[in-house]
Amino acid sequence: MTKRLYLEDNYMKDFKTTLDKTTTDGLVLKETSFYPEGGGQPGDKGTLIINNHPIKVKNTRIKKGEIIHETDIQDFSVGSEVEGKLNWEYRYELMRSHSAQHVISRYFQINFQSETVSTHLKQSKSRLDFQPLRKISPEELTEITIEINSILAKKLPILIKTLPREEAFAYLREKEYQTKYLEMVPKSVKSIRIISIGDYDFAACAGTHVKNTAEIGKISLISTKNKGKLRERIFYSVH
Ligand SMILES: [Zn+2]
Repeated sequence: MTKRLYLEDNYMKDFKTTLDKTTTDGLVLKETSFYPEGGGQPGDKGTLIINNHPIKVKNTRIKKGEIIHETDIQDFSVGSEVEGKLNWEYRYELMRSHSAQHVISRYFQINFQSETVSTHLKQSKSRLDFQPLRKISPEELTEITIEINSILAKKLPILIKTLPREEAFAYLREKEYQTKYLEMVPKSVKSIRIISIGDYDFAACAGTHVKNTAEIGKISLISTKNKGKLRERIFYSVH
């Protein structure tokens, strides 16, 4: 089982480890700071240096419980020393987008009693699906953007802590986190990672985040799209 360095330190850009296994899709490492695709956040890209050869990581994803660093070449000896380097520009923008997503989700929960039912983060344009949510006019969207940007401008600290399952559930219920998400957590998960954004938002999340809302900067809510009965898709970008 690969040690997931990104769970503790979201800012780890490079690391040294050893090669644990090779597969036809890519390489499995003893430890990694590459985030594997999941929870709406895309997998990391970057470089692995093995025997002085830089190997491009095209994507990172989980396959049969293992974190696979997708590479074109897999012909290396298990136990080789590996130096990992993230494509930091790519990852950092996703961290900003992910933290922004938590704030936007909470805003719609508080102001529209609407739950986030799907998220998809992308480098330039991310999207969120809300339900139930009525059609939001462009004028309203402009107002909402201003209000969310004023929350981000408060420079709220973003903290990560891990609690035992039941303790985490009780804590998140008290903080009015979407309970539907908690019901989806498999029984085998014994500890829950909680991301808090000041006193504004508390969420169970395994993704990567910035340390303060000031790092997100500003967001733009771009457009809405009807995705069915009382289901709306909202696009946003961070800049
Ligand atoms: Zn999240």
